[in-house]
Amino acid sequence: MPNDNTTAQPHFSAPIVRFAPSPNGLLHVGHARSAMLNWRFANAHDGTFLLRIEDIDTTRARPEFETAIFQDLGWLGLDWPKPVRRQSDHFAEYQAALSELRKLGLLYPAFLSRAEISASVSEIESNGRRWPRDPDGAPHYPGSDRSLSQAERDRRIASGAPHAWRLDMQAALDGLGTDLSWAEFGSGPNGESGTIAADPGAWGDVILARRDVPASYHLSVTIDDAIQAITDVIRGEDLFASTSVHRLLQHLLGLPAPRYHHHSLVRDSEGRKLSKSDGATSIASLRHQGETPGDILALAGLTQSG
Ligand code: GLU
Repeated sequence: MPNDNTTAQPHFSAPIVRFAPSPNGLLHVGHARSAMLNWRFANAHDGTFLLRIEDIDTTRARPEFETAIFQDLGWLGLDWPKPVRRQSDHFAEYQAALSELRKLGLLYPAFLSRAEISASVSEIESNGRRWPRDPDGAPHYPGSDRSLSQAERDRRIASGAPHAWRLDMQAALDGLGTDLSWAEFGSGPNGESGTIAADPGAWGDVILARRDVPASYHLSVTIDDAIQAITDVIRGEDLFASTSVHRLLQHLLGLPAPRYHHHSLVRDSEGRKLSKSDGATSIASLRHQGETPGDILALAGLTQSG
C-alpha cells in the first residue's frame, strides 16, 4: 500500500486536524486509516486532533452510529477534545453562507427532480451528444433554471415547488479574476502533488442545499474547516477532486485555505474502496471477532508505532 508519509512535512505553527465521519453506518478499516493518520500527524507536530460529526443528512444519520464512532475510535487508542462539533447543531451558520452567496447572485433554485434530470440527460444523449459528468460521475445539471427571472423563481417557490439550491458555476468562475490552487502534501489518485490547479468547473452547478438536507457536504465541510481553524485537511484520495469546489467556496466566502494531504484508500481484494454497507470490514465486527487495535492498523496499511 502506498505510504502514509503525511508526517513528513515541516510545520511552523501547531496544526489543527480533524477526522470528520458521517454517522450513517459503522466505521470500517479505511476510516481507521484516516483517523489514525490525522491523530499521528497532530501528535507528531504538537497539534490538535478534532473529531467532527458530519450529520447534516439527518435522514440518514443515527445516534447509535455516532455512539459507535466514539467507541471505535476510543478503542483504537485515539482521544479528542469534547464536546465535538456536530454539524446538525449549526444549520444557521450554513444558512448564513447560503444567504451570502445568494446576495452575490451566485445561487439559483433548481426545480428539476432527479428523475427529470436523468430523463433530460438521456434525451440529450440519445441524439449522440455526450453530456458532461462531474468527477463523481453525476451529470451536470441540464435545466435552464439559472436564467429564470427573479419573479418566476419567487412565484415557483411560493407555489411550493420542490427545489435545490445550486451554485451558478459559470457566474462564479467569471467573477473569480484569479486562478485557484491548493497545496497538496499527500497525493491524488494519479499521484498529483505540490501545487494543484483547482478545476471547480468540472463539477458544474453543484448543489449547496436541498429541501431535505439544507446544507450540502461541500458547503458544510468548507465552513466547518474555517470555523474550527483547521490547518491541515487529511482525508482519503476519493475527496481529492472535491477540493476544487472547497477552494472555490473558500474564495467566494472569504475563508482561509488549509493545506491538504490526501491519502490512499484501503481496498478490498477486488480493488474496490471499502463501503459502510459491507459490515464485514467494520471496526466493531472485527473487534467482536477478537482482532486487536494493532490488527486493525495492520489491515489499514499502518505500522503499530507510526
Ligand atoms: N464526512 C465525509 C465522509 O465521511 C468526510 C469529509 C472530509 O474529510 O472532508 O466521507
